[in-house]
Amino acid sequence: MKEAEAGAASTTAVWPVDLSRMRPETAAEWVAARYGNGTMPIRPERIARRMGVEVYAMTAEDRSAVFLGPNGRPWIVVDVTARDDHQRFAIAHGLGHILLRHDRPHLETPASFGADAPDHRDRAANQFAASLLVPTAQLRWCVTSGWMRNVDQILKTLWVPEDLLLLRYRQMRAGR
Ligand SMILES: [Zn+2]
Repeated sequence: MKEAEAGAASTTAVWPVDLSRMRPETAAEWVAARYGNGTMPIRPERIARRMGVEVYAMTAEDRSAVFLGPNGRPWIVVDVTARDDHQRFAIAHGLGHILLRHDRPHLETPASFGADAPDHRDRAANQFAASLLVPTAQLRWCVTSGWMRNVDQILKTLWVPEDLLLLRYRQMRAGR
């Protein structure tokens, strides 16, 4: 980590598109439309790589973080020991920090990923991640098509934690 930060100083930074003027949920839809492949589940690590962001899984010694790598590209590092669906959320959250142009976000803690995260940038990154992983249109289809018989099936299709699905369901019902 320290080496990477030191090396970044001499390298030209290559940032992906700046979506800081968009609401997080709008930014997520924009990204999914341009960099997704239209299938579920959304693959945040592939979207990130298509956008020039590198994604690494590290041991529990390194906490999840976003920083500028030695090659000038933003890096997202996630905790390899976390559950798969939580790693997917952490990647999407990190991508949110990068695209919404949050300057030097701190190392993530478990609280960073909660709906009531103390840092407003984390809350924005969380909304970006939630909207990216559970797009409103796909969720509506899952719920209304009749093809999905139960919550487990929707969770498997979208590959997200249950609390995230329930949050997005409430947001969909509220018209967000
Ligand atoms: Zn964060």
